[in-house]
Amino acid sequence: MTQPEHQTATSVLVIGTGGAGLRAAVELAERGVDVLVVGKRPKSDAHTALAAGGINAALATMDPADTWQQHAADTIKESYLLANPDIVRIVAEQAPRGIADLERWGMPFARETDGRISQRFFGAHTYRRTSFAGDYTGLEIQRTR
Ligand SMILES: Cc1cc2nc3c(=O)[nH]c(=O)nc-3n(C[C@H](O)[C@H](O)[C@H](O)COP(=O)(O)OP(=O)(O)OC[C@H]3O[C@@H](n4cnc5c(N)ncnc54)[C@H](O)[C@@H]3O)c2cc1C
Repeated sequence: MTQPEHQTATSVLVIGTGGAGLRAAVELAERGVDVLVVGKRPKSDAHTALAAGGINAALATMDPADTWQQHAADTIKESYLLANPDIVRIVAEQAPRGIADLERWGMPFARETDGRISQRFFGAHTYRRTSFAGDYTGLEIQRTR
């Protein structure tokens, strides 16, 4: 059956409604850019929704010695030196900002009794640096707005 044609206009079209697409769209919207995000599947049907373990960022809330440099070193080591060091540096250095943004938008991170964001060990970490929301971190990322 032919669907009725619908036309719309936007300055930026983001294709894909997983975490990457949504994060790009939020950045554009916060800068006042008109943006439209489209996906071919329901929003919850993305790899992002399946991510259960959590998000790595050297917040040092649990282990004060942690740093983004150690996060980068662990990542490069675990990649068997295949990861692009420039990308690893950007991701490790900016990860705390990503957590702060999610926190600002209302992400229900697990917390210690004193309010600190909890962090736990995840693969290849020297220190506890995975922030999480139960076992549904990815789903919560997509629900956070
Ligand atoms: C089971 C599982 C567990 C994981 N656990 C973790 C974890 O604990 N921590 C962690 O950091 N990472 C984890 N990951 C990895 C993480 O989920 C992905 O790296 C991340 O979600 C990728 O985000 P994305 O936005 O690039 O892709 P996706 O979340 O897959 O989003 C891509 C979107 O694009 C849409 N799309 C694709 N093609 C088109 C098209 N042609 N037109 C329109 N839309 C399109 C898709 O439908 C989808 O909605 C896990 C992955 C899986 C599968």
